[in-house]
Amino acid sequence: MDGYAVRAADLVTAGFVLPRHGECRCGDAPGELAPGTTMRIFTGAPMPEGADSIVIQEDVKLEDDKVVFPRSVQPGSHLRRRGEDFRRGDVLYHAGRRLSSYDLALLSAAGVAQIPVYPRARVLVAATGDELVTPGTPLRPGQIYESNRLATLLLLRELGMDAMDGGTVRDQPSELRAWLKSCADYDFVITSGGASVGDHDLVKQVFAEIGEIKFWKAKIKPGKPIAFGRVGTRTHFFALPGNPVSSLVTFKLFVEPALIAWHHGVSRLPQLAATAANDFRRHPGRTEFVRARLIADDGKLLATALRGQGSHMLGALRETNGFIRVEADSAGFREGETVMAIPLSTDL
Ligand code: AMP
Ligand code: MG
Repeated sequence: MDGYAVRAADLVTAGFVLPRHGECRCGDAPGELAPGTTMRIFTGAPMPEGADSIVIQEDVKLEDDKVVFPRSVQPGSHLRRRGEDFRRGDVLYHAGRRLSSYDLALLSAAGVAQIPVYPRARVLVAATGDELVTPGTPLRPGQIYESNRLATLLLLRELGMDAMDGGTVRDQPSELRAWLKSCADYDFVITSGGASVGDHDLVKQVFAEIGEIKFWKAKIKPGKPIAFGRVGTRTHFFALPGNPVSSLVTFKLFVEPALIAWHHGVSRLPQLAATAANDFRRHPGRTEFVRARLIADDGKLLATALRGQGSHMLGALRETNGFIRVEADSAGFREGETVMAIPLSTDL
């Protein structure tokens, strides 16, 4: 700290008055403290050889070229030791770590300018459906705006992936086949729509024909029709449901952890006990992820199930900052009960 560097023992011997010799500033190489003297020093400057303590400037009085100290000092006061934080040879991170901004501060402090990283996954995103129109064009009867692709691309980029827009593919087996065959250079292909059981739900069929489906359908709500598998030697695919909320929820539950695992990392959705702020009743059957507003309230977490839980209804996403997880056999919850909340943001 800003003050005077001393040998603690000198203070007592010299009756708490020491002549001031020299100055040690930030960026100076360490000087040497002559025995029986004190040296002016500033926060961030190196300790002079021989000094073992700092007395902060607020505690001393200056008399001509002498410094008067009020009392003895504990050796080691107000200084930071080399190697206190980390030492040469310490392992700072293990492979598989997703480096945060804070991690880069630590690496910088350790003088690390380069680290080996895994390449970003190349991910191609497409929507499927004959009814879909890109926003910005007028709607004709029978058409709706396509709303999955942009959000999925942005979520991927937030995760640090190299995400590419594959456009909207028609519900035509030949078109889908051709499109899928052009995806061999991608690590992941993510589609939405066409993964269910309708006559024109061709995505899953074409994936099954060209690649290998590892699983199809999850016992969750929203998001039942999801397929996962491989095409060729490189590409994994996720065929997500078309319903916009299902698509975004399955992204969070399946795609995000898979991408992180692909990068040798570990992901975990934290689940926290929360108090239900309202009732939510339903038919048991599937594990449900209820869009919710979570509020940190005086050290407790309150969870409100939002209105408009239909898998086509994006409106509630305005308020959503988490899910309430309802187990498959549960008929819901009542106000005041403890529920399992999954925060999606730190904005609680
Ligand atoms: P599908 O999974 O293809 O059966 O689609 C389920 C529902 O989601 C249908 O009502 C579709 O019109 C709708 N849908 C599919 N894809 C999208 C999309 N990309 N944007 C908005 N709605 C979609
Ligand atoms: Mg469709």
